[in-house]
Amino acid sequence: MHETTGFIGLGIMGAPMAANLLAAGHALTVYNRSAGKAEALVRAGAVAAADPAGVAAAADTVILMLTGPAAIDAVLAGPAGLLAVPLAGKRIVNMSTVPPAYSEQLARTLAAHGARLVDAPVSGSKQPAEDGTLVILAGGDEADIAAVEPLLLAMGSRVIRCGTVGRGSAMKMSVNLLLATMMAGLAEAVTLGEKGGLDPAVLLDTVLAGPLGCGLFRLKRDMVVTHAFPVQFPFRHMAKDLGFILETARDTGAALPLGRIVAGLYRPDAGPELADQDFAAVKRVLEAMD
Ligand code: NAP
Repeated sequence: MHETTGFIGLGIMGAPMAANLLAAGHALTVYNRSAGKAEALVRAGAVAAADPAGVAAAADTVILMLTGPAAIDAVLAGPAGLLAVPLAGKRIVNMSTVPPAYSEQLARTLAAHGARLVDAPVSGSKQPAEDGTLVILAGGDEADIAAVEPLLLAMGSRVIRCGTVGRGSAMKMSVNLLLATMMAGLAEAVTLGEKGGLDPAVLLDTVLAGPLGCGLFRLKRDMVVTHAFPVQFPFRHMAKDLGFILETARDTGAALPLGRIVAGLYRPDAGPELADQDFAAVKRVLEAMD
């Protein structure tokens, strides 16, 4: 039997991930709240559903790539929602970034409808999503992860098994805490150097030449040097994720003294001129503190 995969959420990440599934030969039914974002995929061979229920009815496995818990709840609810359709035997793969506690609750909700959850958030941003080289952080039963692995490997280069449902999300919390902290650290070091009369390009090349040279700093070099921050991973998403990280720290009892300071830099109430730029624009936040 030729299985159909559903994909809900065709934003910065979801659209290229769905395109890679299509390119790998998977039959795809897609839905996005703003319908226009499905058009390119339909031209490439996907079927557009009118609502999330239409995706669930057509597909054996449904992938979600949405902003976070509120968006997922909206997609699940109501007469046109995912839960309106019989889900027995289906797998839902949530690739959106959410707190681990939300993943565990989502698994219980889906189980009450007969469906099984794999939580599979991703490490990597717009470019790896386009290249199909995301690192996928999977939590769930081994059999469920194995069943969806061919789909995951059409979107990513590696699937890391993190443990039971929710552990994929837990891994994502740790990875994004490190990401936010490293980026803020780089921005602060460059701000100090500039104030002291250093050329930021020479400073970045010095960092990249030694043991601190890493993929993240390489990726953000030009943004920091040119002071332009075209969006890869939006600042507003990093602010959202730091909220989830602090929430998770409260649940688990982790202290996170550094995380609390960093969360204060990626402010959730940042204006639109910051919120829709790349999260490397935390450099601007530091400059505004001068
Ligand atoms: P995005 O471009 O903002 O897309 C968000 C998606 O969620 C859109 O399809 C949006 O629909 C949908 N959505 C939001 N609220 C909704 C609602 N109430 N009902 C239905 N749909 C709703 O975000 P993204 O960058 O693709 O990120 C998606 C997820 O991946 C997030 O959890 C993010 O943290 C995570 N992530 C992102 C990156 C990155 O670099 N961008 C990297 C790793 C992980 P509309 O089009 O109608 O707004």
